[in-house]
Amino acid sequence: MTKQFLDLAAPQIAGLTPYVPGKPVTELERELGISGSVKLASNENPLGCGEAARAAYVAAAAELGRYPDGAGFALRRAIAAHHGVASEQVTIGNGSNDVLDLVARVFLHPGQESVFSEHAFAVYPIATMAAGARARVAPARDYGHDLEAMAALVNERTGVVWIANPNNPTGTWIAAEPLQAFLSTLPKHCMAVVDEAYFEYVDEADYPDTTRWLDDYPNLIVTRTFAKIHGLAALRVGYGLSHPHVAELMNRVRHPFNVNAPAQAAAVAALEDLDHRTRSIAHNHREMARVTAGLAALGLDWIPSVGNFISVDLGQPVGPIDGALLREGVICRPVANYGLPTHLRISIGLADENERMLAALARVLGETSRFGAG
Ligand SMILES: *Cc1c(COP(=O)(O)O)cnc(C)c1O
Repeated sequence: MTKQFLDLAAPQIAGLTPYVPGKPVTELERELGISGSVKLASNENPLGCGEAARAAYVAAAAELGRYPDGAGFALRRAIAAHHGVASEQVTIGNGSNDVLDLVARVFLHPGQESVFSEHAFAVYPIATMAAGARARVAPARDYGHDLEAMAALVNERTGVVWIANPNNPTGTWIAAEPLQAFLSTLPKHCMAVVDEAYFEYVDEADYPDTTRWLDDYPNLIVTRTFAKIHGLAALRVGYGLSHPHVAELMNRVRHPFNVNAPAQAAAVAALEDLDHRTRSIAHNHREMARVTAGLAALGLDWIPSVGNFISVDLGQPVGPIDGALLREGVICRPVANYGLPTHLRISIGLADENERMLAALARVLGETSRFGAG
């Protein structure tokens, strides 16, 4: 980027590095001239969405000439009923990333700071910096959030604290008690965002549903998404739950038609489809076991994950191994940009996709160690 153009941008934009998404299958296949590759790079639900959501999406195609309901009345009502909160507490977003961005635009401005953990989700620094605020990064503990280290960075300039529970790309999680203690000591002028994108996958007794705490903490914003367990990543729907006045502030800057009509319809149907969620969770547990067993057989280490992905420590910079996996048609996600240069994040796929990934990894590692020896 030349200075001539950089100088045109607002100063906070000039300093930004863009989010790096998982490589789309079509792009990889075009580059390498291959076909039939598998994508385990974006933590999508390998089962896709449920039948009811698909049917609602297709039915919505009859009305493509109409603007969506800008207020998302039916969707907000369904989300509110699902969580036992009021519709006024719901902010809908074009994916939960959109909600994170709304939080930053409303609650951060130049001169302020946001606090998050090392190895935390990449959207937090982007949203913070785009709002002209400064990112303060607390060191992680055992790859996960160290809430004491985060609390130590909170001061009178802190507008937002971002917490991913579980975190991506580490798959680490925070138990109810320490999280509650953290929220209780957080100053009232500071918003706490708890990003629960992988909530449904977690099967730990002490894992909190922070939507239950909304009445206790007027500065709490919980975000959820339809992109992961609901299998609707393509449609971009997420939401925030908060105090009604916090939601009202975010609705002041929300684009009126930020969630399109087929997405709203599919999301309502997905919320009602408990069977699909149950199937998806069971699939993830079963396949996570297959993947960890396979990784153990290869003598590899990983960060224990409660999500639908796992970050594997290859013990060396992952570039060459990732490149060799891509040539095998297996797309995973290097996470060096998360401060994890020797880890490769692998999403849990269908059984045959996971088998294929493990076989490719075995071949690639075998070849790498042969090169190393020779
Ligand atoms: C995938 C993910 C999201 C969801 O983003 P969407 O915009 O809803 O697709 C949010 N937070 C984290 C930590 C994630 O990994």
